[in-house]
Amino acid sequence: MGALDPPALDLVVLGAGIIGLCAAEAALRARPGLRLALVDPRPPGHDQGASHGSERIIRATYADPALVADTLRCRAEHWPALEALLGQPLITPGPAVFWGPEDGPLPAYAAAVAAAGAPIEALSAAEARRRCPSMTFAGAERVLWDHAAGVIHADLVLAGLAARVERLGGQRVQAAALGLAPDPVGLRVDTSAGPLRAAAGLLCLGGWLGGLRPASAPVAVPVRQHVGFWPMDVAPGRSPAWVHLGRDALHYGLPARGGGLMKAALHATGAGRPPDDPDAPIRPDPVALAAVEEQLRAWFQPGPGPLRRAEVCLYANAPGDAFFIEPLPELPSALQVAACSGHAFKLAPLVGARAAEWALARV
Ligand SMILES: Cc1cc2nc3c(=O)[nH]c(=O)nc-3n(C[C@H](O)[C@H](O)[C@H](O)COP(=O)(O)OP(=O)(O)OC[C@H]3O[C@@H](n4cnc5c(N)ncnc54)[C@H](O)[C@@H]3O)c2cc1C
Repeated sequence: MGALDPPALDLVVLGAGIIGLCAAEAALRARPGLRLALVDPRPPGHDQGASHGSERIIRATYADPALVADTLRCRAEHWPALEALLGQPLITPGPAVFWGPEDGPLPAYAAAVAAAGAPIEALSAAEARRRCPSMTFAGAERVLWDHAAGVIHADLVLAGLAARVERLGGQRVQAAALGLAPDPVGLRVDTSAGPLRAAAGLLCLGGWLGGLRPASAPVAVPVRQHVGFWPMDVAPGRSPAWVHLGRDALHYGLPARGGGLMKAALHATGAGRPPDDPDAPIRPDPVALAAVEEQLRAWFQPGPGPLRRAEVCLYANAPGDAFFIEPLPELPSALQVAACSGHAFKLAPLVGARAAEWALARV
C-alpha cells in the first residue's frame, strides 16, 4: 500500500441507477456502519440512463417460470418491505393484459404462468373486451389477465432510496469510474475524483458496463428507447397496463401517474444495428413515436389524442433478456450486475439484495 493510497472501504458500488441504489441500500441495511461508497457521475434521477421517469410496470407474466416466481416473490416480499422502509406506497396495484397472435410468443407466456401457478387468468378475447371495453384486442384468441401487476412510481423509489442510502451512512461520490485493478484489500477503482479501494465492488453500470469492462459489452448492449405520452382516458389502478406480444415486436403501455396520459413504446431490441452511444445527446425519434401511435389507434377505442410529450431511455440488452450477475474472473472481488433488457426495475429489490449478500460475504 503506497503512502498516498486512500483508506480502504468495505464496498464500492459503481452506478446509482435503481440496481446500484437497491444494492447499496440492502448492504447498508444488513450491515450498519458499513464503509460504502456509491459512485456515479450523474445526479439521482438523471435522464441519460434506464431508471428515470415516473412509472414502470410490475407484472408476473413472463415466458420463464423462474422469472414468474422471482417477480411474485418480489411483489409479495421485497416491494412491501421497501414501501415500509421508505414510508410511502410505491406501487398502485392494477391488472396487466397480454395478447398477441397464437403463432407468436403468447403461448410460451401462458404455459409459464400456468406452470408457476401465478394469479393470471387466460380469458377469451370477448371476456377481456367486456372487462376492458376501450381495448380492441384485435386478432386475439385469448388474453392473459395478470392480477399480480401494477404501476411502480419509479421516481419516488429512486428519490427515496437515494435519501435512505445517505441516511444510512453511504458516501455518495459524484465521479466516473475509469478503471479497475486488483488490490491487496480486494479491488482498486480509479475514478475521475481519485482512487478508491475496497474489499468488494458491485458493477451496476447499465448500458455503460461495456465501456468500463469491454468483455462485458455483449451482456449490456446500450439501445435507446423512444417513449411517448398520449392523452387517453386512463389512470393507474383503473386502467390496465398492457403488453402486445407480436410475432416480431413487443409493444407495451401503462397509465401515467396522475391519469389522463398513456405511456407507450416499442420494446426496441436493437437487433441488426450497432449499439447506441450511452453518452450521446438524447432526442426522441418522431418516426418511432408515430409508429407507436398507429398501433395505439388499432388497439384502443377511442384512440389517443395527439402526442403530448416524449422521453428517451436506455436499455442495456443481453442475450435472451437474461440477467448476467457474476464475479469477474480477472477480479474475483468484483461482481458484474448486468440486469436490464428493459425489465429489471420490478426485480431490482431482489437483484440488489442478492448482489449485497454476495458482497457482504467478502467484507
Ligand atoms: C423506456 C423504458 C421502460 C422500461 N419499463 C420497464 C417496466 O415497465 N418494468 C420494469 O420492470 N422495467 C422497465 N424498464 C427497465 C428498467 O428501468 C431498467 O432495467 C433499470 O432501470 C436498469 O437500472 P440500472 O441501475 O441497471 O441502469 P441505469 O439506471 O442506467 O444506471 C446505470 C448508472 O451508471 C452510471 N454510470 C455510467 N458510467 C459510470 C461510470 N463510469 N462510473 C460510475 N457510474 C457510471 C450512470 O450515470 C447511471 O446512473 C424500462 C426501461 C426503459 C429504458
